[in-house]
Amino acid sequence: MTETTFRALALLAHSLEATPSRNEKTALISGFLRGLQPGEVGPAVLLLVGSIFPEFEPRSLDVGWRTVKRVLEGGGQTTLFREALTINRVHGALSDVARRVGQGSRRAKEQLIEGLLVSADPQEADVLVRIIFGEMRIGVNEGLMLEAVAEAAGVPPGAVRRALMVTGDLGKVAQAAMELGEEGLRSMGATLFVPLKPMLASVAEDPEEALEEHGGESAFEYKYDGARIQIHRRGGDVRVFSRRLSDVTGSLPDIVELVGETIPGGDVILEGEVVAVGENGRPLPFQDLMRRFTRVTDVQEMAQRVPLRLFLFDVLLAGGDLLIDEPYSRRWVTLEGIAPNRLLARRLVTSDPEAARSMLDQALAEGHEGLMAKRLGSVYTPGTRGKAWLKIKAAETLDVVIAAAEWGSGRRRGWLSNYHLAVWGGGEALVIGKTFKGLTDDEFRWMTDRLRSLKTSETDYTVHVRPELVVEVAFNEIQRSPRYASGYALRFARITRIREDKAPGDADTLGKVEELYARQFRYKDRAGF
Ligand code: AMP
Repeated sequence: MTETTFRALALLAHSLEATPSRNEKTALISGFLRGLQPGEVGPAVLLLVGSIFPEFEPRSLDVGWRTVKRVLEGGGQTTLFREALTINRVHGALSDVARRVGQGSRRAKEQLIEGLLVSADPQEADVLVRIIFGEMRIGVNEGLMLEAVAEAAGVPPGAVRRALMVTGDLGKVAQAAMELGEEGLRSMGATLFVPLKPMLASVAEDPEEALEEHGGESAFEYKYDGARIQIHRRGGDVRVFSRRLSDVTGSLPDIVELVGETIPGGDVILEGEVVAVGENGRPLPFQDLMRRFTRVTDVQEMAQRVPLRLFLFDVLLAGGDLLIDEPYSRRWVTLEGIAPNRLLARRLVTSDPEAARSMLDQALAEGHEGLMAKRLGSVYTPGTRGKAWLKIKAAETLDVVIAAAEWGSGRRRGWLSNYHLAVWGGGEALVIGKTFKGLTDDEFRWMTDRLRSLKTSETDYTVHVRPELVVEVAFNEIQRSPRYASGYALRFARITRIREDKAPGDADTLGKVEELYARQFRYKDRAGF
């Protein structure tokens, strides 16, 4: 059997680049895959998406542009001694490039790259260079490749997707699909010490929304403001991976030790959040935690200076069995059987929004970020963001003065109920939002009387008042807004307390709003971690 040339792959890459249609691209790739020899499928699939290794592999080629340029300009591409490149030779040589590290590796890498480029014609060289720099840009991402593999192998795309979720290894999955078919894919399991992509969460504004989404009942867990880790253990061997699948075992000796001491020794994969704690046991700012994660020297000293706490919230593999297709509620029971209570995330299963709300208040008061709401029957879907997990973030609060109120309608008829919320700026009460949420009927009545006594003028629906009554409002976000003179608007504002104990001058200022607005970006910056 003859090996497939790299030239065939390079030509395919150029055709794919020229084909905008997704269906055509899929057809081109699947046709190509069908023509390959066993053993070529994995490398070909990886090269076509512009990589050499599966995503979880930390190895990189580490070749600079200057090296490649030097080789290209050094008069490569002679036709004289051209030995045809094959897909496997290219993949093998590039793997070899990544393997060379340490002293003398630069020269060795250069020689290997040179070996490839001198044998390449211009079209092959073009594709080689794109692969070397991880920039194929032919419009073939992992999703499209999955479809092409499914088509080529004649298996359902879902089976390929699931196998990739579990193994994280595109090449291996493609190979299995072609050689073993659907059954082969279904039998692929997770491999210990190879991290699974984490399941992701969507946003819910409040516990009510989460409960509704989850059919009336959710498990609410504290959302810790830390870093997610996946812990793999077999006997005395413990490895810890970050959310981005990098191995952070070396930076977290205390977590390794903790796991070694508290979790039984069988094969297990656990997920949790680590939080840096200060002297009084409260969470430390995120930056302090990050210092732990990036540390490579003086690790032990750092472990003492910035102690970590671990809160486990899931188990993906136990006793050798992959549990991701089991419902979350059953995985939790397994987790309880494995880990001591003090290492588990604080959790409450309830259908009562009030109970969830008071848990949210408690989480925030203890310095955590909010709550996660989880659907009890949900399976664990690696790498996908769905509604089975919903994050309910910290609601910030501001003390505002009420500058005006609108007469309510419907159930709130006869009450002043839509309150114009304002902060101080240049001696004026500047409106930053309106709300009628958060009060009981009695409070509405009380507010109506109180605001009438502060009335300065009245139009059809709106009563303007002296800005003297202070209320505390919670909100989910501050947005820039041209609608109000303040230039900002509160998103999902609700009154959390009437602050009669506060004088009007105690209400917050526009400066505070600007500060909170800026601080929101602390969370936004963090999103990629
Ligand atoms: P976000 O980073 O805002 O998308 O929120 C999801 C992240 O919250 C997860 O990736 C975890 O790092 C973190 N988290 C904190 N506590 C929990 C919990 N109890 N369950 C799941 N994720 C949690």
